[in-house]
Amino acid sequence: MKRRTFIKTASLAGAATMITKNALSEPRSGFLSHAETGSKGPIILSTWDFGKEVPQSALKALEAGGTVVDAVEKGVMVPEADPKVTSVGYGGFPDRDGKVTLDACIMDGEGNCGSVLFLEHIIHPVSVARLVMEKTQHVILAGDGALQFALENGFKKENLLTPEAERAWKQWLKTSKYNLPKVDKDNHDTIGLLAMDAKGNMAGACTTSGMAWKIRGRVGDSPIIGAGLYVDSDVGGATSTGIGEAVIKVAGSFLVVELMRNGKSPQDACRIALERIVHKQPKYAEGKDFLAGFVALNKAGEVGAMSYRKGLQYTLHKDGVTKVYDAEYIAK
Ligand code: ASP
Repeated sequence: MKRRTFIKTASLAGAATMITKNALSEPRSGFLSHAETGSKGPIILSTWDFGKEVPQSALKALEAGGTVVDAVEKGVMVPEADPKVTSVGYGGFPDRDGKVTLDACIMDGEGNCGSVLFLEHIIHPVSVARLVMEKTQHVILAGDGALQFALENGFKKENLLTPEAERAWKQWLKTSKYNLPKVDKDNHDTIGLLAMDAKGNMAGACTTSGMAWKIRGRVGDSPIIGAGLYVDSDVGGATSTGIGEAVIKVAGSFLVVELMRNGKSPQDACRIALERIVHKQPKYAEGKDFLAGFVALNKAGEVGAMSYRKGLQYTLHKDGVTKVYDAEYIAK
């Protein structure tokens, strides 16, 4: 279909000119839009199972007349504020020095994006990332500078270390062993969320407290535009979870989107990006607990989700129904 559309257009205007133009300008034609596929209503896709309240909050924002950026922000704010979620926002497990440090980013389908790294004391890092996107000429603010920016813009400084997280940290201190953690549905770190409204506008957000007991200052893939999240409404979006270092090394979410741009389905794009990780760095394939995974959504509303090893779940709201699924995986 894509190819047919392209050929038809090209033959009308003169093939040579069109090929050059297509290569240079990457036009929006060639992909069926969400509306054209007959899908109904918004699509909300996120990593893991953080509960139905996540897609519900995103949908509520859209129903109230909000944008997809509002939707993704509101969706991920749910686990950020939940002290029982030990891997995102308030209640997140700290670094090895007992400090909760948060990473988050947000991006719309038109190339606007914002990100905060190594941010402490602010319960909703995604909202600070959004402010970086909307109120500054920059993309990333980090550490004390990000905190200062948040405080200057009305965010409140809070203690994010819950008694439970502190207890877990003290328990860890007894051995202080640090291996890359086993990531699965009971122990995961990140919510990445993609949304598309009924008109096909897209956005994404990703937020995490990162790896528990990490070296102070460590930042993973989650707040890195192109690694933990990438959205282009001409094509689709992708977001990742798992061992962030592995994802950064292949610019994972950008890679998934570019594979979709070149005609791959979201599922194939996720698989190829994961294969790229272990092709370049076979040591990851040797780790029996190694998990990296992507979820992806293309402009036509098709969904992909895959992890390297078994364990990834994702939550999808589509055609009015919300369900949690086990993702396919590569290493059987
Ligand atoms: N990707 C996150 C990080 O590396 C962790 C996770 O998603 O499990 O910080």
